[in-house]
Amino acid sequence: EAGKKTRQFRAEVRKVLHILTNSLYTNREIFLRELISNASDALDKLRFRVNRGESPREPDLPLEIRISIDKDAKTLIIADTGLGMTAGELAENLGTIAKSGSEEFLAGLAAESRSGKEKSDGKDGGAADGEAAAADAANIIGRFGVGFYSVFMVADRVEVTSRPAFEKDAQAHVWISDGLGSYSVEPFDAEEPKRGTVVKAHLKDDAVEFLEKFRVESAIRKHSAFVPFPVFVDGERVNTQPALWREPKSSVTKEQYDDFYKALSYDAKAPLDVQHIAVDAPVQFNALLYIPDSGQDFFGADRDFWGLDLYARRVLIQHRNKELIPEYLAFLKGVVDTEDLPLNISRETLQENVLLRKINQVIVKQTLSHLEKMAKDDAEKYKRFWQLHGKIFKLGYHDFPNRERVSALLRFNSSTLPDADALTSLDEYMARAPEGQKTFWYVAAPNREAARLNPHMELFRKKGIEVLYLFEPVDEFVMEGLGKYKEWDFKAAENAADDALASFADKEKPEKEAAAPLSEEDNTSFDKLLARMKEILGDKVTEVRVSHRLADSPAVLVSPDGGMSSSMEKLLKVMQK
Ligand code: ADP
Ligand code: MG
Repeated sequence: EAGKKTRQFRAEVRKVLHILTNSLYTNREIFLRELISNASDALDKLRFRVNRGESPREPDLPLEIRISIDKDAKTLIIADTGLGMTAGELAENLGTIAKSGSEEFLAGLAAESRSGKEKSDGKDGGAADGEAAAADAANIIGRFGVGFYSVFMVADRVEVTSRPAFEKDAQAHVWISDGLGSYSVEPFDAEEPKRGTVVKAHLKDDAVEFLEKFRVESAIRKHSAFVPFPVFVDGERVNTQPALWREPKSSVTKEQYDDFYKALSYDAKAPLDVQHIAVDAPVQFNALLYIPDSGQDFFGADRDFWGLDLYARRVLIQHRNKELIPEYLAFLKGVVDTEDLPLNISRETLQENVLLRKINQVIVKQTLSHLEKMAKDDAEKYKRFWQLHGKIFKLGYHDFPNRERVSALLRFNSSTLPDADALTSLDEYMARAPEGQKTFWYVAAPNREAARLNPHMELFRKKGIEVLYLFEPVDEFVMEGLGKYKEWDFKAAENAADDALASFADKEKPEKEAAAPLSEEDNTSFDKLLARMKEILGDKVTEVRVSHRLADSPAVLVSPDGGMSSSMEKLLKVMQK
């Protein structure tokens, strides 16, 4: 046949094909994502050149992607009206591993299959490599894809017909391969495609699920819902949702934001709030970040259900990526889309990715600003935020560089507030404190009633000094972790030294008259009593002493100075079991 050339794939391509076709894939549907992304890229490239003033062949053809299913022939066809490829480009682009990301992927596989190679003992390494890596490959490929070659997961023969958009020579060519070791390129004499590329995949018997329209559509909705060109399956448009995060803020309505959230989160309730972020420096990314109006149990059932959906140029790379936000912002749901990430990035590379770390830092800053503004402008909304998500947000005390800002956003119930629902910030607490106070006092208790009945509270009530109520076990770790806020310490009320509040005047008359000062005689009889009590209690206490701080309660347990609070001790005991 005139002009037909049959060639061998390069060695590393053969290796990838072997791995791909000999592994079991949980996520084979990503081949659709890869082919649609390529089609979308080709349309993008064409549009770019048109915008620069070049004119393509068939200038009136719409920019779109058409997928059609032929059940009888068992073929799936993906056609685009994009840039197209010459014969040389078909060979070059589909016969070698593309630069973008695939090489990293291969490097990762090579590392994982090294043991396999050693075992194969100098024999031809190719196949052994593939088998050893197959199990891990399934995982990696399933998540990240390997570009065009992923089509051989589902097809045993692929024909790529292409007519370049800007070449003088209008000749179309077809690239054909069974994905095993060789491919051919030859001229293709037909009218279609008028412009662009048609990928025809002959599906394997175990991949006929992709002849079902709903199956194809659901894969597209999942991975390619926001491709910026229309995608049709058998004539019907599938991707109707615009990539809202790429739209200018002013053009997006609340209803659109809410609908997008519901589709994204499966939450029937509209979100409490949304941040729409567009950043160009120090990294380029767009993001839509929602604060749900319902709580999640990140300390229990929802432990792993957090992270943001990571997109590269509108194509989903990873669900629930956990590099994009710190754990204390786990309540955020949404998407991040960056131009600067290759599609075929491996999981290992994602984890160490500097780009993602930078995005993370920007998201933290913006989210803190957003919450600060909400706290200032809409106290009710902020209160709702705190009730729903405060429990996880508190863990922000770990974030050393942002600790001051996180501290200012913390909320507590306290002895001064009218009911269990009311909240105070640390700054409000400081503003109410009498001259000379430089400590945030707190008491840990299961609820407000228990906190109020705590005998350590007596003295604070007498002096009119506010005490923060900590209702959750983690709260004491937060207080310990914070150390200080605006030069003030945090201290448990039960650890207050006897004279800690001596410099503050009594606020109100105690309910009972304070006892008269003790006489010499009293002291000696108390000595005997105290000695006897110590004898009975033995090792359970370090000391028994007379206290002047109590008015209503006969006795109170205190920690030695600088010791842990009793509830913290209980917690640690439970953890040691
Ligand atoms: P990547 O998309 O990461 O470059 P792929 O393996 O998916 O790697 O594709 C390899 C190359 O083949 C692309 O870079 C592109 O040049 C070319 N290509 C693939 N599909 C198309 C298409 N539909 N139209 C034009 N070129 C394409
Ligand atoms: Mg690609």
